[in-house]
Amino acid sequence: MTESCLFCKIISGEIPSERVYEDDAVYAFLDIYPASEGHTLVAPRKHFSKFTDMGAEDVAVLFEAARKVTAAVEKAFSAEGSNVGINNGEVAGQEVPHVHVHVIPRKKGDGGRG
Ligand code: 5GP
Ligand code: ZN
Repeated sequence: MTESCLFCKIISGEIPSERVYEDDAVYAFLDIYPASEGHTLVAPRKHFSKFTDMGAEDVAVLFEAARKVTAAVEKAFSAEGSNVGINNGEVAGQEVPHVHVHVIPRKKGDGGRG
């Protein structure tokens, strides 16, 4: 836990969130400003500021969890697909410096990109 990190506080329960999924390695919760209904963030419990700070094993665990969350969220929100990705670094739009995978469920004609 990094004292001042917003997502470390969410993961520890110090700040409330809408939990979607959790296991030993990750915590997934609804984005407070969703790009679509069901927009979920999947974060490793371990603090890494950037995706590129992570090692292969932690990446594998994070993305397997993200895959499971994507399947569950698509089913729960009757989505036909999802955008799954990471903003790596401030210049790329990363606002919270604790790695997280965005899972954005998509439906035909929902107005999003793509
Ligand atoms: P980033 O820009 O770092 O890739 O994504 C950060 C995401 O975290 C944004 O989509 C933003 O809406 C979300 N977010 C920021 N603060 C909070 C919060 O306090 N709670 C939750 N659930 N999401 C947050
Ligand atoms: Zn953190």
